[in-house]
Amino acid sequence: MKIILLGPPGAGKGTQAKWLADKFTIPQISTGDILRTAVSNNTQLGREAKKFMDVGDLVPDIVVIGIIKDRLQLNDCKKGYILDGFPRTLAQAEALTEALASIGDDINFVINLKVEASKLVRRLTMRRVCKSCGQMFHLEYSPAKVDGICDQCGGELYQRDDDSENVILKRLDVHNQQSKVLEEYYYKNGCYKVVDASLPIDQVQSFMIAILSD
Ligand code: ADP
Ligand code: ZN
Repeated sequence: MKIILLGPPGAGKGTQAKWLADKFTIPQISTGDILRTAVSNNTQLGREAKKFMDVGDLVPDIVVIGIIKDRLQLNDCKKGYILDGFPRTLAQAEALTEALASIGDDINFVINLKVEASKLVRRLTMRRVCKSCGQMFHLEYSPAKVDGICDQCGGELYQRDDDSENVILKRLDVHNQQSKVLEEYYYKNGCYKVVDASLPIDQVQSFMIAILSD
């Protein structure tokens, strides 16, 4: 099963992708996570990407397309995967379609997690992430049992560098510029579904499962 999750920053793509990955035992592939790992390891890719990420801009297509092509060749992708944060531009979507078509393959489901813009800033400014396992928390909606410590693994919680208000506004703006063409692209493909991601997490999950069992 090959799934793409679309949606604005703060829609819950990461949370839901992790949940689906567990449920179907397929990998969650997040370009954001891959890039952040590169940044924290201070690799050449990381140093290059950081310039864009810190200000809320997209990392150039050629870079992320390269990352994804390499990642999809790893063995754990054979049974399928969940793409979270990729594609983000039409060029990325086209490159993905082409790469898959060249091996006679295709995406099965594209789920767009939609949330009104007004809710997103609050979701993002109060978001905290586990340094060790990537689990997400929200200071108000889903706080950790012990402040600053991950419920799942005991790791340290931190606020992403790009979860500051001015960078968030920029990220939302960039998303709005790209999302329409992407939605149209997948709408034409016929495997495109929208889920109201302002609903509670478990309801969003039920809707996703209904779509995926179709
Ligand atoms: P969010 O969806 O919450 O904005 P991500 O973790 O998916 O966060 O991405 C964080 C940043 O990483 C983006 O703002 C962008 O700079 C970069 N990035 C991630 N995925 C892509 C992509 N597919 N294309 C270009 N840049 C990307
Ligand atoms: Zn953790």
